[in-house]
Amino acid sequence: MKVPFYGHVRQYTNLKSEIDANIKTVIESGEYVMGPMLKKFEAEFAQFSQTKFAIGVANGTDAIWLALLALGVGPGDECITHTNTFFATAEAIWFTGATAVFVDCDPKTRCIDPSKIEAAITPKTKAIIPVHLYGQCADMRAIRKIADKHKLFVIEDNAQAIDAAGPDFRIGELSDAATTSFIIQKNLGTFGDGGIVITNNPEIDRLVRKMRNHGSEKRSQHSFGFNSRLDDIHAGILSAKLKHIHVGNDQRRKWAARYTAAFKGVKSFTLPYEVPGGRHIFHLYVVETVNPAKRDALMKFLIDNGIDAKSHYPIAIHQQEGYPWGKQARIVGPIPNSERNAVSCVSLPMFPELTEAEVDYTIQKCLEWDKANA
Ligand SMILES: *Cc1c(COP(=O)(O)O)cnc(C)c1O
Repeated sequence: MKVPFYGHVRQYTNLKSEIDANIKTVIESGEYVMGPMLKKFEAEFAQFSQTKFAIGVANGTDAIWLALLALGVGPGDECITHTNTFFATAEAIWFTGATAVFVDCDPKTRCIDPSKIEAAITPKTKAIIPVHLYGQCADMRAIRKIADKHKLFVIEDNAQAIDAAGPDFRIGELSDAATTSFIIQKNLGTFGDGGIVITNNPEIDRLVRKMRNHGSEKRSQHSFGFNSRLDDIHAGILSAKLKHIHVGNDQRRKWAARYTAAFKGVKSFTLPYEVPGGRHIFHLYVVETVNPAKRDALMKFLIDNGIDAKSHYPIAIHQQEGYPWGKQARIVGPIPNSERNAVSCVSLPMFPELTEAEVDYTIQKCLEWDKANA
């Protein structure tokens, strides 16, 4: 049996009529950039997020970058995040000219550890950027408290956790802005690049809206800005898919529960932790080998058996070539949990369109490996 890692072609087959209809609507309208489909999708996404504003942009990295720029973050400033995330979280900081300051992640959730943040705050600190890693919310209540105490901004990098929630908060509720990526690997993905910024702050809305479109608020009048727009054809695809995201994520949660129940008692790897009362939407289902030296062997065993396992992220940001790229980054360490994550993580196939047979086959192979390696 072959078990793929991604299910987006299966998803397209299921939703073909709705997606194709929206694509056709855009093509026939003749309006492809900043047109009515984008407006419609932004309104739908703001309503879905329960925020006042949603601004479509070109990708998830630009979404973070533009949100930071709207808050006035620039050279000489510092933004606090962690290193066991996708590289783009830090890229967006660097693109403003600011310095990325890394603290350790929580050993259980793998999101930023709030208890490590205050030690990293300096007079230059402007923002905290928690990542809702693998589909689970960071501890936003604790982060908000620290931000309020030190008068810092908070931007949620929500590329991986659309439709997730904390035990007592929504994404976008406790931050200045939250950002999402719509690349196909994410839970809500288009057939290309896309991203969005959500906020309740009218000034952030105004500035991001302006900057994404050549600094223009009125035709032919320009100030500071770029080209970072979400094309209408992507808005149409995403509008069709948005209606199904919650059900899809519920299915991910069911597969995750099936994995977790079956893996009860395994000794060679640990299971993803779920914050009680929260809604983890399992962008990824990540296990970690107890012995990091065996991670690659587990990956190989699964791949040899037709199961497409991956690793997120085997090279942490501070381990990438050339780090720290001048003085653009600083670690307030030690960061053993982030470093451990890089050497021990294995992501199992996880998407709504998996079949029960595929999930059970993956379970069977993982249990086989556990027996031989416990
Ligand atoms: C995917 C991702 C991004 C960047 O999204 P792009 O659309 O590829 O620019 C940023 N942060 C995290 C955590 C991501 O997973």
